[in-house]
Amino acid sequence: MRDDTIPVPGAADRAVAYGDLTDDLLRTDWWTDAMLARADIPVVDIPFVSIGGGIGSFVTVDYLRICGVPPSAIRVFTQLDTPWESYEYLTRVSQIPRGERLRSDSASCPDNIWGFPSYALREAMATRSLKPLAHVLVEPIFDDYWTPKAGQAFDSMEQEYHRIRYPEMVVKGQVRMVRRRMGGGYFTILTPPAGATRTKRVAFRSRYVHVAVGYPGLKFLPDLMDYRETYRDFGSVVNAYEPHEQIYERLHRAPGTVLVRGGGIVASRVLQRLIDDRDARGLSTQILHAFRTFVDGPHGPHAWMRRPGGDGWAYQGFNYPKSVWGGQLKARMRKLDGQDRAALYEVFGGTNTPKRRGWQAQMRRGRQEGWYRAFQGEIATMEPGPQGTVQVQLKTATGPARAQVMGVIDCTGLEADIREHRVLADLLDHGGAGRNPLRRLDVERTFEVRGTRSEPGRLYASGTATLGGYFPGVDTFLGLQIAAQEIADDLAAQGFCQALGPVRSVNQWWKWVCGERI
Ligand SMILES: Cc1cc2nc3c(=O)[nH]c(=O)nc-3n(C[C@H](O)[C@H](O)[C@H](O)COP(=O)(O)OP(=O)(O)OC[C@H]3O[C@@H](n4cnc5c(N)ncnc54)[C@H](O)[C@@H]3O)c2cc1C
Repeated sequence: MRDDTIPVPGAADRAVAYGDLTDDLLRTDWWTDAMLARADIPVVDIPFVSIGGGIGSFVTVDYLRICGVPPSAIRVFTQLDTPWESYEYLTRVSQIPRGERLRSDSASCPDNIWGFPSYALREAMATRSLKPLAHVLVEPIFDDYWTPKAGQAFDSMEQEYHRIRYPEMVVKGQVRMVRRRMGGGYFTILTPPAGATRTKRVAFRSRYVHVAVGYPGLKFLPDLMDYRETYRDFGSVVNAYEPHEQIYERLHRAPGTVLVRGGGIVASRVLQRLIDDRDARGLSTQILHAFRTFVDGPHGPHAWMRRPGGDGWAYQGFNYPKSVWGGQLKARMRKLDGQDRAALYEVFGGTNTPKRRGWQAQMRRGRQEGWYRAFQGEIATMEPGPQGTVQVQLKTATGPARAQVMGVIDCTGLEADIREHRVLADLLDHGGAGRNPLRRLDVERTFEVRGTRSEPGRLYASGTATLGGYFPGVDTFLGLQIAAQEIADDLAAQGFCQALGPVRSVNQWWKWVCGERI
């Protein structure tokens, strides 16, 4: 990247690196323009900035562009080449490559705020087949939910990415912090990529900031970390969100046992991969499957709020009941605060996976033929065994057990505490932000981060960092779009963009249909 991609006046003329954070800046919650001038940090003015550049930034920018905000008024700070890069990496390593189907439904389209034409309709048109339409007509009673292929989501996002001129708004770099500005608005400190500019930091002075930084980090369970650090073996005991092809390859080379841990969709996908490989290559892989909570039947507080379950799993089409995105649970949660809100999250939360017919048939076959064994249990200890294996001591519901495995695939955790993310930690310590009843970032119904206002500026956040707020489905395509809509409505009320009324909406939808650049 060259200096001119970040319009820093005079940066290219400076002989030595300049412009870094000072102790004064680090310690102070509210900054003045003079403090940045003293630190020799160049300041760039832009009305709206979005931090992260993943799908949350993309759908928010999409909304604002559709609501009439020009590209010159928006900047997205990111290290990604495309908004779906991070997501594509996570789906690929957790066994959802482009050709496999995602979890969300046909109308959850991050490239299309109207959700119409849906992915199923588009697939039907592209393949000249009525099958996807017949499928959505009978789901979920006579068939599983129809869901799009990952590749379809990425390709369609790419079209919208060009249509809204997203690349013009991207500034590469890592955001270090956001601080409130005396006199209104915010300063966002960006560290440009090494060698891109002589200044070490650039400050973007904006009225509005949107934070969409995704997952604060991978959550490695202590037993996994202990094993890896003690025995310096990073290839046998893995988190499913890390590349772990080596385990499948080892199982191709020699017969062995693998231990899978977790009861969510990633565990389902990993099992599918193991069983597909077993079938396709004639392998004799043995699968042990540990559930911390073993669900043996339908569960829930009332007859009308029960979730199916069995064989260890809790079953649900999507990660929450569907009414969370637009029905009675959405309306109910919007009215709750504090412990009442936390209690409702507790009722419908919990790990679950879709009950897909294909997965059920594979596991049934595995149970009957004795090569798939699921149990309630936890790992007590792990140590290296003979020939590159791992000796696992288990605490199961029926007592201690031992297993010698080729690999352990942990499918339990992606989500670390928000404090592990530097920008979020800084917002908690210096930005006035607080935690919600689930200990994540506390946001208003408009997705403004409570406590961070710097009049007339506003700081918004969306995505998983805000789970526990008035709207539960935040970490999904549709949830990110609903958050974007709330943010756009709030910005329209302040005169920053046009309101998305029926005339603008139909007009913009037609432009979308025609693929017209805006
Ligand atoms: C395996 C998996 C499957 C999923 N499947 C579905 C599905 O089928 N349907 C669905 O609706 N949802 C799904 N989700 C949930 C959700 O839609 C995605 O995780 C989505 O990518 C979240 O978007 P985001 O913008 O919040 O985070 P991301 O897309 O992860 O983007 C955030 C970006 O911010 C960047 N960033 C962080 N800190 C900084 C910083 N300081 N400076 C600059 N950049 C920074 C990160 O590099 C990251 O790339 C899935 C999630 C996972 C993990």
